[in-house]
Amino acid sequence: MFNKVLIANRGEIALRVLRACKALDLATVVVYSTADKDASYVALADEAYCIGPANSTKSYMNQAALLGVAKVSGAQAIHPGYGFLSENAGFAEKVMQAGLIFIGPSPENIRVMGDKIAARNAMLASNVPCVPGSKGALGSDESSLQTIAENIGFPVIIKASAGGGGRGMRIVHDSSELLSAVKLTQEEARKTFGNPEVYLEKFLQHPRHIEIQVVSDSHGNAIWLGSRDCSLQRRHQKVLEEAPAPNVDSELLARVGDRCAQACMAIGYQGAGTFEFLYEDDEFYFIEMNTRIQVEHPVTEMTTGLDIVQLQIQIAQGEKLPLEQADVECKGHSLECRINAEDPDSFVPTPGKITGWEAPGGLGVRVDTHIHSGAVISPYYDSMVAKIITHGKDRDEAFAKMRLALRETHLSGILSNIPLHQTLLDDPSIRSSSVDIHYLEKLLSPSG
Ligand code: ADP
Repeated sequence: MFNKVLIANRGEIALRVLRACKALDLATVVVYSTADKDASYVALADEAYCIGPANSTKSYMNQAALLGVAKVSGAQAIHPGYGFLSENAGFAEKVMQAGLIFIGPSPENIRVMGDKIAARNAMLASNVPCVPGSKGALGSDESSLQTIAENIGFPVIIKASAGGGGRGMRIVHDSSELLSAVKLTQEEARKTFGNPEVYLEKFLQHPRHIEIQVVSDSHGNAIWLGSRDCSLQRRHQKVLEEAPAPNVDSELLARVGDRCAQACMAIGYQGAGTFEFLYEDDEFYFIEMNTRIQVEHPVTEMTTGLDIVQLQIQIAQGEKLPLEQADVECKGHSLECRINAEDPDSFVPTPGKITGWEAPGGLGVRVDTHIHSGAVISPYYDSMVAKIITHGKDRDEAFAKMRLALRETHLSGILSNIPLHQTLLDDPSIRSSSVDIHYLEKLLSPSG
């Protein structure tokens, strides 16, 4: 058991975690870089420590500084949020070695899920559907490579086992390109990630991105909390998310969800996690598991009525999950618009001083943000400054509430992508059906 939590993050997620701690009557310690000294949550926390300059490698990624603050403040647990050190197995290990609790899964689980081949093998062992692909790492023997690729069928995608953030992948359309593409990707992977292992899988041409949220405790219980559709992406960055994923057969989803929960139990997973799938022609294909809280978790909270961050903390305290799968009820529909400080046309970040901020309100409208009038958006960090979330009895109502919520929102001093969201909410394809992961980029391209 612990009663003081160090929040090793910044921005909206630092405030989100602080709120969960306060609801559980836990004391909070926040850290901040010099650029974030005036952040709202710094004043709300019980204790706050400056851990370095704006550059995150010297502050939010500074493991020694974070462990030092934990020691000085007497915090017994560390919540890593998302990004930064949240999926760093070495950091989780150091936290444990310092006698502290890492609010998240074990270093071993983080490590396995950070390695695409190992993650895939763990999923195959639990019958979680994966993209048809090679059994493990590829060698360099041309004829066996050709056999593997031909059995799967072109186009295929070569992926670095240690890749991440959309890097270390190469699509191959034809057998004549195969050998050189494998060698090139191996070489790049060795240079970029320090691990030359690559594997190969079928390249899906029109998939949607659908993910399943899980929570799993230390007593062998795991449940899944419904689906999210995050197909609207630009450069692998999600823009607008929703729960549940529309137009998916509920029995199929339940089968895959149950397998995700079983996989968590099989690997002894602890905490919150997300299984990401590509979904094409009524089939789910696992691509990766995120071993942390995700930006888009609120849409699941709105439909299930559960506080996922509180669950993470309670699980880390050794508590049992407060509900069973049969108790999980997904009600209505939820949308999340990520509000970024960026030019809505060029997508260039627009750091600067916010001169005015008015947030929307009403039943079924939630705003997760740390910004306020007078806040300065630093060029050093991610451009996401707020998340506007709506919940309605169905998809139409969630859209209607979001349309008004965006009109109620006033953000001045910096440009934002609110106009883009307004366009998306009125787009007939997005409104009427489920679009694939390429839809947004095509819409934005000059010929789109
Ligand atoms: P990363 O860890 O770099 O995010 P992922 O495996 O999650 O890598 O893949 C990132 C993105 O690459 C996916 O969201 C999808 O757009 C594309 N992608 C990955 N695998 C495939 C595949 N087999 N077919 C089609 N697109 C894929």
